[in-house]
Amino acid sequence: MKRCVRCVLPETVPGIAFDDNGVCSFCADYRAETRLDPAELDALAAQAKSKGREYDCIVPLSGGRDSSFVLHAAKTRLNLNVLAVNYDHEFRNPDAVANMERACRALGVEFVSVRSRRDIAGKILRCRIRAAESRGMHGLSGAMCIACSYGYRSVVYRLAEKRSVPLILWGSSQAEASEHMTRKAFKAFSRRHPNAYRTARMKIYKRLASLALFLQRVEFHVPGNSMFRKERPALRNADIVEAHYYDYMPWDPREIESVITRELGWRRPSGHVSSWRTDCILHPIVNFAYFKLFGCSRNGFAFVNMINSGKMSRDEALAQEEEMGRAFEDDRAVRAVLEKDVGLSAREVDRVFAAHERQEKDA
Ligand SMILES: [Zn+2]
Repeated sequence: MKRCVRCVLPETVPGIAFDDNGVCSFCADYRAETRLDPAELDALAAQAKSKGREYDCIVPLSGGRDSSFVLHAAKTRLNLNVLAVNYDHEFRNPDAVANMERACRALGVEFVSVRSRRDIAGKILRCRIRAAESRGMHGLSGAMCIACSYGYRSVVYRLAEKRSVPLILWGSSQAEASEHMTRKAFKAFSRRHPNAYRTARMKIYKRLASLALFLQRVEFHVPGNSMFRKERPALRNADIVEAHYYDYMPWDPREIESVITRELGWRRPSGHVSSWRTDCILHPIVNFAYFKLFGCSRNGFAFVNMINSGKMSRDEALAQEEEMGRAFEDDRAVRAVLEKDVGLSAREVDRVFAAHERQEKDA
């Protein structure tokens, strides 16, 4: 299989193009990260402290590597009185939960985890998968992160408002931001695979999914946001500042992992489905679906930035992709998560896989 000579994306990614040297169009579009002045982050921290509230800062925590490091930095480097907030999206890797508890204990930080009283994230997920079953892996991957995308923002904003916390320090990094690339690939994919049919059953589940999403917005309403609009909640409170730690400070995965392992007793979550370790047990399903659709994982798109910015070697990325590709040749582990953890029936899972086979044949 032909791959980009710089990153690891293969020729099977819809819409990808290669120049004469074998460099892909995603690498050609790569722009270096912008970095803000670290002194500005110190100023934000000083400003938050000066308010003298119960907590200076909320750090949203997933149990993953990057947010654990931000928690450590907020407490030890910025010297803030921190509240750690986790959204329990119902599919957390137990190892990630243990990581969060250990980190908060080690730092003496209060830890709050919020879960839907109605287990709404699982309901949204099942309805969305059933509503898109004729779209195979495309429908499956599209259903995965919707509930969390609203949920994790809403619980953080709600707690910041309720407890008057003046600063929110996020742990996401520009280096891993790759939605603009996957959006491009899906656009090209959809041109090749026009609309799939919709059965009466699928139409009912589409309605139920909308209802479940509405109930989520009611349960986790963020002040100033409409419950009738389907979009990510925004923070509408001039008294609270949001900042992204890695916009100011270097994001160095090796350094990050070494610090949190040493200081917080952090451990890599164990592999669930494939060797890719993650704080969410659904993420490997996303990777699996991407492999079926594009011939590479979801992570493969994030590797474009990481390789181009020198944070990861191409060999390292290629080894991870190949290992995952081998693991995904066997689909039993993915089917097991969909049945046991997500709660679909074996027949429902079969229908999603059969739709994928059909799409492949039609293409
Ligand atoms: Zn490339």
